[in-house]
Amino acid sequence: MLKGVDIGGSFIKVLWEDQRKEKHFIRDIKSDREKLLKKIKEVVLEGRPSGVGIAVAGFTSSGGKVFKSPNIPVLDGIDLAQLFSSEGIPVAIGNDVSLGAFGEWFFDHRQSEVLVLVAIGTGLGGGLVVEGRPFFGVCGSAMEIGHHIISKDGYPCNCGRRGCWEAYCSSYGLERIYRDLGGGELRDYRIAEKALEGDELALRAVERFKDFLITGLMNMVHIFNPDTVVLGGGVIENLKPLLRDIEERVKEVSVSLPASCVSVKFSSAGEFLGSRGALAFIKTRITDIKS
Ligand SMILES: [Zn+2]
Repeated sequence: MLKGVDIGGSFIKVLWEDQRKEKHFIRDIKSDREKLLKKIKEVVLEGRPSGVGIAVAGFTSSGGKVFKSPNIPVLDGIDLAQLFSSEGIPVAIGNDVSLGAFGEWFFDHRQSEVLVLVAIGTGLGGGLVVEGRPFFGVCGSAMEIGHHIISKDGYPCNCGRRGCWEAYCSSYGLERIYRDLGGGELRDYRIAEKALEGDELALRAVERFKDFLITGLMNMVHIFNPDTVVLGGGVIENLKPLLRDIEERVKEVSVSLPASCVSVKFSSAGEFLGSRGALAFIKTRITDIKS
C-alpha cells in the first residue's frame, strides 16, 4: 500500500491510501540531524509501504535533495532520495506546497486546467498544477509566491527581504499587523478567535490581512489566469468564516477577462494537505513507472 509523508517543522504527518492518518511529533528532535533522519527513515519505512511520496517544507530539487529548509535547517543539503536508495521502496520527493497543489487537483479538482494553491500557516507557500501536472520549475523551486514583493520596502520577511507577501499573510504577519494597530502580542489563532467574537481591533487586523491577501491573489490571477485558486493552511482554516467574500473581492480588483474564469475554493485536506499531495504524487509516479 502507498502512503504520503509530510515532513514539517513540528510534525511528520502520514496519510495512507486507506485513509489512515498518523502524526509524529518531531519538534523536540528537529535540531538534531542524526535523530531527525533516523525518525524520518523509521516513519517512511514503517508498515512496509509499496511506495512513499515525501513532501518537505523548503527548497527541494526534483531529484529529492533538500537545498534549504528555513523551518528545519538541519535538513539543508540532505539528499533524501539517496537516504532511501538502498531500501528497495520507490519514493517520490518534492516541496510540500507544490505536492499539496497536486493533491488538490488529484482528489478534488480534476476538471481544473490551471490550479494555484496558496497555503498560509507559519509562512506562505504556493503550488501550481497545469493540465494535471505539478509545475516545479527547472530546479524544483517554482512558486515561491510568498516571496513576491507586494509592498516595496515594506515589512521585513523571514527570508531577509522586505515587503514580501508572506511578511503580511502568514501567522507572524497577522500577529505583526495586530501589534502595529496597538493590540500588543497575541498569537495568530487568538487574533482569529477574537475577530470571530466581534472584537473591533482584531477585526481591523483581519481586514488589513485580507487586503494584502486580495492583492496577492489578484497578482496570481493576472499572472497565471487560473480556473481554480485553492486556499489552505492553518491560518486560512482559522479565518475561514471571515473570508467568505474573498472570491467576490478578488474578482472586483482583477482585470475582467481572467476574473471571469476564476473561482476561489477552500482546501478540504486540513492539516494533511502536504501528505495528501505526497500520496497523489507517488500514486501517479508508480503508474508512470509501471507503464
Ligand atoms: Zn520573503
